[in-house]
Amino acid sequence: MRDSLMKGVPTMRSALVYKHSRSPSKGKQIYRYIDNIKITLLCGFVTILVLRGTIGLGNAGVPSSDSDDLMLEMPAHGSKLVDGKDIDAEEEDELDLELDLNQTYSMGAKIEDWDKQRHSWLLENPELALSSTGKPRILLVTGSPPKPCDNPAGDHYLLKSIKNKIDYCRLHGIDIFYNLAHLDAEMAGYWSKLPLVRKLMLAHPEMEWIWWMDSDAMLTDMVFELPLEKYKNYNFILHGWEKEIYEKKTWVGLNTGSLLIRNCQWTLDLLDTWAPMGPKGKIREEAGKVLTDALVGRPAFEADDQSALIYLLITQKDKWGSKVFLENSYYLHGYWVAIVERYEENIQKYRPGYGDERWPFVTHFVGCKPCGSYGDYSVERCLKQMERAFNFGDNQILQIYGFQHRSLGTFKVKRTNNDTDRPLETPDVLNLLHSSFSQPTWQSVH
Ligand code: UDP
Ligand code: MN
Repeated sequence: MRDSLMKGVPTMRSALVYKHSRSPSKGKQIYRYIDNIKITLLCGFVTILVLRGTIGLGNAGVPSSDSDDLMLEMPAHGSKLVDGKDIDAEEEDELDLELDLNQTYSMGAKIEDWDKQRHSWLLENPELALSSTGKPRILLVTGSPPKPCDNPAGDHYLLKSIKNKIDYCRLHGIDIFYNLAHLDAEMAGYWSKLPLVRKLMLAHPEMEWIWWMDSDAMLTDMVFELPLEKYKNYNFILHGWEKEIYEKKTWVGLNTGSLLIRNCQWTLDLLDTWAPMGPKGKIREEAGKVLTDALVGRPAFEADDQSALIYLLITQKDKWGSKVFLENSYYLHGYWVAIVERYEENIQKYRPGYGDERWPFVTHFVGCKPCGSYGDYSVERCLKQMERAFNFGDNQILQIYGFQHRSLGTFKVKRTNNDTDRPLETPDVLNLLHSSFSQPTWQSVH
């Protein structure tokens, strides 16, 4: 490309010379005519080159060769779907290796004395046992499929969703882990949180709690804190209702999209008991039938982690029930349909910090599948409301810096504070930056 441009330079220059020569002769006129043709051809050539360059950069500046590679990675049309998500040929092969239903699935080596192992480790590393705020450590864990979303807008909302979680975690001294790998081929989709949570518990004995949050859940109250004191005698905290589970046996009696689990032997045992319905293929399909028969309102589909947990609690209440806390005094998980239309009313009447219907802690887009293709709600409705939920939470972050979204529906922002030469005197209205929960204990002592 550069070569052909350089070749054109002398032609251009000769044209300029003739343009400025006075009363040209007949011979000169012929030369001029030939030169004009040359100029026209050259301009045409340059135009084609420029256009090619522009079109080539059509993918928002991604070099065309790279975007071709990316396209090769995109799910092919008409490929098989599992849980509404495409699976590639490699995974299809794995599906063919149907598992023996009698074979017991295991997520790893059986551990019997985790409490003892962890306790000795903490004694050896006492400085790691507490977070920077002096409280038991929490690791927020979330993740999404390793491939690009079917709909590129899905990737955009995954980014907004992780930004939202990073903001909350930074303000509250919580660590964060984002998983993009399929750690266990058998436990794909909603089951993937089980092997992941187990792996992280064992690798991070310093973490007292693992807080799993779905990628389609956003923190909408940046002030509210998990009431850990209340959970001191419990190991597993989920949003749910005792009556809905143990009496009514409904399949939505609890939600596994935002849950808190203690790093202890009890949890390892629970995960071992919970996992066997998860392996994809025949096991998951057969288990799905058992769950649909047992739970009220459950449609016929393969076994999901939520139904399997409810089934486990109903059938083995004596074994597990006493350590499971079903929370409903605030939205540890909040079903988005019941929440998103009321954000404006929340803003008018209340302030962040309640975590309940006055100012929901978590807004979870259950059934939306923004990264997959087949959700229960329209993609437009889901994406519009996800944008509103993100902005509702983000306003609490932006206010620290003197900005607000112009409305909940737009990414555009407006200034709310005038610039000042005394920035440290600007009030932190929500007390998010320097509140007790974000301070190390040694600072509050002094
Ligand atoms: N997920 C993951 N990797 C995958 C597929 C799913 O980490 O390959 C996670 C993701 O965070 C997702 C969650 O599993 O949010 C559960 O799925 P989803 O939210 O679609 O289920 P729903 O809440 O609608 O029942
Ligand atoms: Mn979800």
